[in-house]
Amino acid sequence: MADGQWGNCKGCRYFGSHHPQPSSDEKSRCMQPELSDFELQVSGDSGCNAWEARTGVSGTVTPYHDPAPSIH
Ligand code: SF4
Repeated sequence: MADGQWGNCKGCRYFGSHHPQPSSDEKSRCMQPELSDFELQVSGDSGCNAWEARTGVSGTVTPYHDPAPSIH
């Protein structure tokens, strides 16, 4: 599933919005095949590393990096 790209749901092809240009505060269902079983409701500003570009949207793609280990 993870292909190393991270992006916002509003620019993702799996964001279940009917709008051609979803907004940041719009909420919709995540239709990603491996995540759809969980019936996730996500906002346009949410995101994950299963992101794939939505047609017609020039989304910002950020390479995914694992979080740095916390220092105690
Ligand atoms: S949660 Fe991930 S796969 Fe689902 S719409 Fe958002 S970026 Fe796309």
